[in-house]
Amino acid sequence: MIYVLLIATAVFIGAVFYLAKLVVLGLEQKADEDVLKAKEVFQKIIEQKDKSQAEKVKLEREAVEIFTLYDMTRDITRHFDEQGAFSIFLSKLKESVHVEDCELVHDIAEGYKGGVLPSGYATFILKSKEKKLGVLLYKGLADKDKEKFAILAHQFALALRRLKLYKDIETLAITDGLTGVYTRRYFIERFDEEIKRSALRKSSLAFLMVDADHFKSINDQYGHLTGDAVLKEVANIIRENVREIDIVGRFGGEEFCVVLPDTDSEGSRVVAERIRKSAEKKSIRAYDNTVRLTLSIGIAAFPTDGKLLEELMDKADWALYRAKSQGRNCVVAFGSYKE
Ligand code: GH3
Ligand code: MG
Ligand code: MG
Repeated sequence: MIYVLLIATAVFIGAVFYLAKLVVLGLEQKADEDVLKAKEVFQKIIEQKDKSQAEKVKLEREAVEIFTLYDMTRDITRHFDEQGAFSIFLSKLKESVHVEDCELVHDIAEGYKGGVLPSGYATFILKSKEKKLGVLLYKGLADKDKEKFAILAHQFALALRRLKLYKDIETLAITDGLTGVYTRRYFIERFDEEIKRSALRKSSLAFLMVDADHFKSINDQYGHLTGDAVLKEVANIIRENVREIDIVGRFGGEEFCVVLPDTDSEGSRVVAERIRKSAEKKSIRAYDNTVRLTLSIGIAAFPTDGKLLEELMDKADWALYRAKSQGRNCVVAFGSYKE
């Protein structure tokens, strides 16, 4: 009986050990599987990390490139003339992208006859706020550089827009709103420069003061609006009878002034007579009115009548006063005036 009990106990213990071994084996297998899974997860995380790292490096590089591009293009926007801005743009462009040729034109037709581009060339329209500012004609741009090219070109378009705004403001500041000739202030600046230039080159220069005769009565008869239109026409008459290099300004009211570089008193008298006759002949149409008007002109010449701006102005004014007192519609040159 005791043997049976012993055997039963031994079998039971054996069974317990066997079961325990099975359990341990099962646990080991599960642990192995878990380790494998963990390894896979770990591997994936490592791969993800490498990918993120590569992505980060790529993004950082792109950011540096873009910031460098914007940095460089700041130089472009500092330029005050179109050609200067374009040459900076071109040098920056060639530093940053591969392009064989790039030209700036205002219109495609201007760049190539009939607006037909030669093979290999492409265009980039430079615009700001939907306004076309110019066209870039380029060839041989590497595909990888297209984005950078566009960034630089947009910056260049901004620079062109700024230049245009500066020019418009400058023109507004120096132009008389009614007649389109220079304002008194700007005229005097230019007059002063011309005197200095003439002194350096030892050349002559003439200064004309042009005054509309009896202008008050034109206003009285036809009204101020017609008077304004007549003043515009006086400015046109003067401009039409002088050269491109001559400087025309509105001195105030119905008084205009002209600087004729490289012209002596005799030469300027011819010009002044041409202006006077042209006004005398003209029937000015303004608001259903036909207005006739005459001009009186006083002349002073550098260096014969004076060497300083104020001196020349005083003497031309004096000559103009003589022209008025002689009966108007005439030209008087200070130097050749005889009682
Ligand atoms: P004179 O032959 O002596 O020069 O006579 P005038 O009438 O031309 O000269 P005055 O100096 O007596 O009058 C100038 C007139 O020009 C008076 C003024 O109302 C007019 N005038 C000045 N500026 C303007 C302007 O911008 N528009 C108009 N319509 N008239 C102006
Ligand atoms: Mg007058
Ligand atoms: Mg006057």
